[in-house]
Amino acid sequence: MAVSEDQFRPLAELAVKVGVNLRPGQNLVVHAEAADAAPVRAVSRAAYAAGAKRVHVIFRDEACDRITLEAAPEDGLRAFPRWLADAFIREAEGGAAFLSIFGGDPHAFAGVAPDRIGLAMRAAQEAMQPYREMTMSHKVPWSIVAAPSPEWAKLVFPDLPAQEAEAKLWEAIVRTSRADGPDPVAAWQSHMGNLQVRRNWLNDLAIERLHYRSPGTDLRIELPRTHRWVAAGQERGLGYVTAPNIPTEEAFTLPLRTGVDGTVRSTKSLSFMGQQIDGIALRFEAGRIAEFHAEVGEDALRQVIETDEGSRYLGEVALVPVDSPISQSGILFHNTLFDENASCHLAIGAAYPTCLTDGRDVHSDEDLLAKGGNASHMHVDFMIGSAELDIDATTREGKEVAIFRRGKWASPVPG
Ligand code: ZN
Ligand code: ZN
Repeated sequence: MAVSEDQFRPLAELAVKVGVNLRPGQNLVVHAEAADAAPVRAVSRAAYAAGAKRVHVIFRDEACDRITLEAAPEDGLRAFPRWLADAFIREAEGGAAFLSIFGGDPHAFAGVAPDRIGLAMRAAQEAMQPYREMTMSHKVPWSIVAAPSPEWAKLVFPDLPAQEAEAKLWEAIVRTSRADGPDPVAAWQSHMGNLQVRRNWLNDLAIERLHYRSPGTDLRIELPRTHRWVAAGQERGLGYVTAPNIPTEEAFTLPLRTGVDGTVRSTKSLSFMGQQIDGIALRFEAGRIAEFHAEVGEDALRQVIETDEGSRYLGEVALVPVDSPISQSGILFHNTLFDENASCHLAIGAAYPTCLTDGRDVHSDEDLLAKGGNASHMHVDFMIGSAELDIDATTREGKEVAIFRRGKWASPVPG
């Protein structure tokens, strides 16, 4: 079963009205797999109904990309098309909104020589840098939603027949994206309201340090003085509210680059470039990963950690309770958009400048480092949440506050 235009309508509405929160007269650029034409049509209709001026669609095909990665000469891999980068950059400068539909095969490039993927990735990153900067600092509205594919469904439900697996994945996407009720847009407004209350509470506490404890984990994380907690629905650079990820369940900030000490153990599988990594154990000294180990996929973990100097440090601290819909589904999605929202996580690599109160002044890696944040080409989330996790905060005033107990928020949503 490929998902039909009609079936995708609730998610399309969410993407347009909540995800990028489209303004009348605005352009929308949609980036999707060629196989996801039906979801893209649903998005186009929803966008025009919301007052879009013009919807531009950029289709990609992973199978075709794989042929290029395997067969192109090296100078071809290095030649990312300028005109394609310009399309994104010019639309962004002109005030367009951007929507990505995640679909396709999470293992599409498995087995391709990593150095060839690296060449093509670096060329794309360089060409797209001005666009990336605008999205990382939320100067342009953007969002991601997901559509099921046969390959992805097979990975998530390997024991089910193909049709059944895809139907089940679609059902899980709709449910965990909170698009299954009678009024998904209203459901998201109340969900974002709850996340904002949490975020405000964390910001008002003025936390100096977090202390994580669970089996295998005893970790202290200091936060920069100008850190701030971010959650969906934040205004950021735009002056109105968007939800960059659908689904999203997290409140997150950045750690002080040199302020992480102790040990931490992962609690869920991590999918990285088509490889599975399990049982990660890290030991930190003054922010730096001093020792690492994985029960499964240690070589893949080494690839992540040894990318550059910044991939030896953390860039994100995110809080997600174990009673989130994604966590309760018990499904491993093999996709960070979903899996990071199932669990408290940390990210190896780059920090988001939007997690600093003075993040608007960050124009380079040097600026970010100077403010205590981490810079890297990597940003890989790994999950550390469980029903055994306790988190305590020490505030700047020296007060001890319980943040998480047994994997959940220690206090109910205030108000
Ligand atoms: Zn996160
Ligand atoms: Zn992250």
